[in-house]
Amino acid sequence: MSPAATQNSATFDAIIIGAGQAGPALAARLTGAGMTVALIERHLFGGTCVNTGCTPTKTLIASAKVAHQARRAGEFGVHIGATVSIDPRALKARKEAVVGRSRAGVENGLRSMERCTVFKGHAHFQSPHQVRVEGALLQAKRIFINVGGRARVPELPGIERVPYLNNSSILELESLPRHLVVIGGSYIGLEFAQMFRRFGSAVTVIEKGPRLVWHEDPDISEAIAGIFDNEGIAVRTGAECIHFDTRGGEVVAGVSCKNGEPEVTGSHVLLAVGRRPNTDDLGLEHAGVAVDDQGYITVDDELRTTTPGIWALGDCNGRGAFTHTAYNDHEIVAGNLLDGESAKVTNRIACYGLFIDPPLGRVGLTEAQARARGHRFRVGKRPMTRVSRAVEKGETQGLMKVLVDDASQQILGAAVLGVGGDEAVHCILDTMAARAPFTTLKHAVHIHPTVSELIPTLLGELQPPAA
Ligand SMILES: Cc1cc2nc3c(=O)[nH]c(=O)nc-3n(C[C@H](O)[C@H](O)[C@H](O)COP(=O)(O)OP(=O)(O)OC[C@H]3O[C@@H](n4cnc5c(N)ncnc54)[C@H](O)[C@@H]3O)c2cc1C
Repeated sequence: MSPAATQNSATFDAIIIGAGQAGPALAARLTGAGMTVALIERHLFGGTCVNTGCTPTKTLIASAKVAHQARRAGEFGVHIGATVSIDPRALKARKEAVVGRSRAGVENGLRSMERCTVFKGHAHFQSPHQVRVEGALLQAKRIFINVGGRARVPELPGIERVPYLNNSSILELESLPRHLVVIGGSYIGLEFAQMFRRFGSAVTVIEKGPRLVWHEDPDISEAIAGIFDNEGIAVRTGAECIHFDTRGGEVVAGVSCKNGEPEVTGSHVLLAVGRRPNTDDLGLEHAGVAVDDQGYITVDDELRTTTPGIWALGDCNGRGAFTHTAYNDHEIVAGNLLDGESAKVTNRIACYGLFIDPPLGRVGLTEAQARARGHRFRVGKRPMTRVSRAVEKGETQGLMKVLVDDASQQILGAAVLGVGGDEAVHCILDTMAARAPFTTLKHAVHIHPTVSELIPTLLGELQPPAA
């Protein structure tokens, strides 16, 4: 089947806007089912994750870990001589090689996909079934929006006076900040903060809320604050009135905290205060697609928008903020359209990682969420100092905890903050996905010595939660 085309218009079975984490995989499913697909990408193939998100940050975090371990080598009886020094251009070159391969893989995959036509340019709706891109008018009965998001710029006093960085521009630096001031003590901010500290920059994290990663339980926030303190990362929480200025070529961030110095002076500022969806320049009003007050596209449980024949997948629908949730959105849509399934986004178990070192693997509810939903539950909790693999590795910071519902006997949620925590949490996630009782995992025999080995033990030590 080839798309019906006139000089400046073409009709396809489907149009996909955005080559992020859902679009390319969906294109493969739809073309595999015999449909013709127009895929439109305005910037970089692979979207945020590949180019300015997961891939570059985790690549740089790996470099930061090497620097950190090299500095600690003596603790392990290993002497490596000279002081550890960082080559920022080499870090960047390594990062770009990894990102470049991934981006090329996505683009080549799409360009060589049978029945898929790739358009490079900005997509703009003309009507519920028509999209304009670079002078061409494309039409289809089905349109899938996968436009992702970008860094939010907060309206803070003086922000226009400082040359701030975001998650994209900070990746382009070719020299290290003398003092990086990170605004935002959540996932993105913390990963950059620790990474640059390990590269040798002084780092201050400024957080408006009363603690770091305030979505997490206080014991997890506290443990993360301890990890940062051990590495000499300054943290200013409760910064309710952040404002900016410049002084003598430096950036001054006024934090107005109740305690401590009222200002922090740095060489660079990173804004890491959340994301906003790329829906403001898409012409959604011409398609009748509704958005909420933050600009996220309104979708139902099967990711259908308010206009029949148009779906929204990934970060732009506000139902997830991760690569795995965007990818799962394509599985939901493709499964329902092509395989006769009735998959629903509300069936997805929340899970994510915070890739500081040691990492946090999170799944399901926090204690605060479990209480708010009226669950009666018990908690298993263990510091990583009591996990032999962590002791052997000399990486004993953090803790693991799991919540079990009294009524259903199922696991409600867990946090594994510790070496290997991002991997170990998956046995808990899988038990939850299987809707199995916690005893299934409790009785499993895990490999010694691993971090996962202690998770059945943890489930054997459940206690009522602290009041
Ligand atoms: C610093 C950072 C680190 C992260 N780390 C992780 C992590 O470790 N793990 C994780 O799961 N998630 C992580 N994320 C989040 C993850 O990157 C996103 O959740 C994921 O990329 C969302 O995928 P998406 O397909 O919804 O959108 P995107 O990946 O943003 O893709 C959207 C695409 O649409 C294109 N587009 C937008 N508008 C138009 C238009 N009008 N016309 C044509 N094309 C358009 C864009 O150019 C882009 O290529 C991180 C994010 C950041 C910023």
